[in-house]
Amino acid sequence: MTPFAYRRAQSVDDAVRLGQAPGVHFLGGGTNLIDLAKGGVVQPVLLVDVSRLPLADVAPAPDGGVRIGAMARNSDVANHALIRARYPLLSQALLAGASAQLRNMATVGGNLLQRTRCPYFYDTGFEHCNKRAPGSGCGAIAGINRNHAILGASSACIATHPSDMCVALAALRARVRVHGTHGERTIALADFHRLPGDAPQRDTTLAEGELIVGVDLPPSGFADHAHYLKLRDRASYAFALVSVAAALDVRDGVVQDAAIALGGVAHKPWRVPQAEARLVGRAATDAAFREAAELTLQGAAPASQNGFKVELARRAIVRALQTAGAQA
Ligand code: SF4
Repeated sequence: MTPFAYRRAQSVDDAVRLGQAPGVHFLGGGTNLIDLAKGGVVQPVLLVDVSRLPLADVAPAPDGGVRIGAMARNSDVANHALIRARYPLLSQALLAGASAQLRNMATVGGNLLQRTRCPYFYDTGFEHCNKRAPGSGCGAIAGINRNHAILGASSACIATHPSDMCVALAALRARVRVHGTHGERTIALADFHRLPGDAPQRDTTLAEGELIVGVDLPPSGFADHAHYLKLRDRASYAFALVSVAAALDVRDGVVQDAAIALGGVAHKPWRVPQAEARLVGRAATDAAFREAAELTLQGAAPASQNGFKVELARRAIVRALQTAGAQA
């Protein structure tokens, strides 16, 4: 690990001011950032500790939704009465991630900024990783790519986003609140993470030095019919090969609204609004679920070792929707 300076931010404005210089990273729970720094994948000049800013509340919002502070710990959010009652999909996704110890440390803001777990990205002795060293190539494309993307990848990078929480947030149409030198703005979760394109070193649409201050969940009709399905190589403490956040708003047997988001398949949580729309106004049947799954996976282009993910994702979508739809 290269030496770095450490400062504790006194306020959001103080953090944003400190964050304007090159090489500054905001430190929340540190569960990913410290690993990256230890391995030399990132070499911070200054860590600005934002973990003690008063941004850890989970509270009802005036619009009927819920506002979550960026410094709320993953376990606190997962077990919060408001989240369990109104957004069980988010609770399930959070509890499917990492381990109890990590969830006790990891923050909502840090979870949004998790970096890919592509092994070439973490191996600084390996030369060819465009995400770590832009222009150096992508070792995964002709290498080990079983865990990599089947949707939205580019010739520069086929990495996947590792978060479970973000998949549920995408399905729930969350918005991310960020604070920068020009004040506060919100970004739809769907627009917060990027596809790799020719700049895979950029994971998000955050501007330089912007601080995540919270996540807003809009009012939701998905509380009664929601399921997070995570498929992985072992039953716990493993990243998803494929995950599905599925939710339905069903009244009198007719789907009023539907949400489907995939994890483990792309550089960002994968949502296809046309696939969700295909379910609306119809009965919640297996045939409708299969149509939605086909639309969600349209354009899938697996790498050499992960063709199995296409069928796995297709079946996972149907199963997650069946489970969500069957709930009382
Ligand atoms: Fe690097 Fe992305 Fe290629 Fe992995 S997939 S080696 S992160 S460029």
